Amino acid sequence: MSSILVTGIGELTTNVAAQARPDDHRDPTGMLGLVDDAAVVLEGSTIAWVGRASDAPAADTVCDAGGRAVIPGYVDSHSHLVFSGDRAQEFAARMTGEPYSAGGIRTTVAATRAATDEQLTSHVARLVAEMRAQGTTSLEIKSGYGLSVHDEARSLAVARQFTEDTTFLGAHVVPAGTTPEDYVDLVTGPMLTAAAPHARWIDVFCEDGAFDVDQARAILAAGTDNGLRGRLHANQLTYGGGVKLAAELGLVAVDHCTYLADDDVSALADSGTIATLLPGVEFSTRHPYPDARKLIDAGVQVAIASDCNPGSCFTSSMALCIALAVREMRMSPAEALHAATAMGAQALDRDDVGVIAPGKRADLVLLEAPSYLHLAYRPGVPLVAGVWQGGRPVVPGS
Ligand SMILES: [Zn+2]
Repeated sequence: MSSILVTGIGELTTNVAAQARPDDHRDPTGMLGLVDDAAVVLEGSTIAWVGRASDAPAADTVCDAGGRAVIPGYVDSHSHLVFSGDRAQEFAARMTGEPYSAGGIRTTVAATRAATDEQLTSHVARLVAEMRAQGTTSLEIKSGYGLSVHDEARSLAVARQFTEDTTFLGAHVVPAGTTPEDYVDLVTGPMLTAAAPHARWIDVFCEDGAFDVDQARAILAAGTDNGLRGRLHANQLTYGGGVKLAAELGLVAVDHCTYLADDDVSALADSGTIATLLPGVEFSTRHPYPDARKLIDAGVQVAIASDCNPGSCFTSSMALCIALAVREMRMSPAEALHAATAMGAQALDRDDVGVIAPGKRADLVLLEAPSYLHLAYRPGVPLVAGVWQGGRPVVPGS
C-alpha cells in the first residue's frame, strides 16, 4: 500500500476536540482541533498519522502544502441531484417578486420522467464532479423527482452509483392526477418496495402544500418496517409539527428548521436530533434565515448542507453555505466549518468521515489560503487548491 506525506500544512483542521484557546479567534472553544505546522500521512484509502510536521514519519511520496491550510472534505448531508432540466426562469420570476411554493417541484418531475437513465446518470456525475472540485468528498442524494414506482426506483439506482447515502423521497409532493390519500398508499406500498433495495434513508417533505404530520408519521413508519432510517424536511416555510415529530421519533437529523417555536428548540435539544440548516435555500428564495445562534446556544446539534436542487437552491458550494452561516446566521467561523464537516457526517450517522484522524477515510481539502477562516472571509472566491478522496488525489494540485 503506497503512502503520501502531506507536510508543510500551515493550519490543519482535524475536528478532534482540543483544549479551548479563548484568545485564538480561529477556534476559541477548541472544537476544530487545529494543529499548526502540521503533517498528515495517507496510507491507501485511510489516514495513518496526524501531527506536527517536525515529527512526521517518512512516506513513499511527499506533497508540500507550502504553509497553506488543510480541512476535512465537506460532508454534504442533503442534496437532490437526480433530476433533469432547470428552473432558472422560475428563479428569475422569484427575484422579481413571485413567491416560492412547493408546487414548482412538479415542473422538474415532468422533465425527470422524460429523461433516459443515461441522461440522469451523466447529469448526476457532472454535479458530483462539480461538488468534488469544491471540496465535497461525501454526500447524500435524494430521489423525489420521479414520483412513480418506476421513476423513484430508477432515480435511486442512479444515485447509488455515487453514494451509499441514498434517500427515498417519494413523499416530496403529491403528483398531479392523484389524491393525497391514494399517493400515500402508493408511497408506503409498491413504491417503497421498489425503492428500498436502493436506499439507506427515507424522507418526507412535511410542509403546507406537501405532507402533514400524520402522513409523515405513517410514511416514516413504513420505511422503518422496510429497513430504512428516517429523516425529515420540516418547518421550512411555516411553523408546524414536523420538527417535534422528528424529535419524538429520535431521528438522526431534521432538515431546514427555519420556523421554530421555543418548544421545537427544546425538543431538539432534548432528543439530540441534529438540526441541518440549509442557508443556500434562504439565500435563493429570499426568505428569513434559521436562527442558528438560538439553536446552538440552546444546546442543539447543528449541521449545514447545500440542499442542492433545481428549485429552491441550485448551489453545490459548501463554502458558500459556510459564508452564509457566518454572515447571516451568526454562527462562528469555527462552528460553521465544523457543521459542514464533522456534523454533516454525524447527520448521516457516519463515523468514518468528517474528521482527520488515524483510521478515518483520507478525505482532505487543501485551501489556497493560510487559514480556513478565508472560507467566510473571502466569500465567492474559489479557494480549493487540491482534494484527496479516499487517499486519491481527485483535484489537480493535490
Ligand atoms: Zn431538500
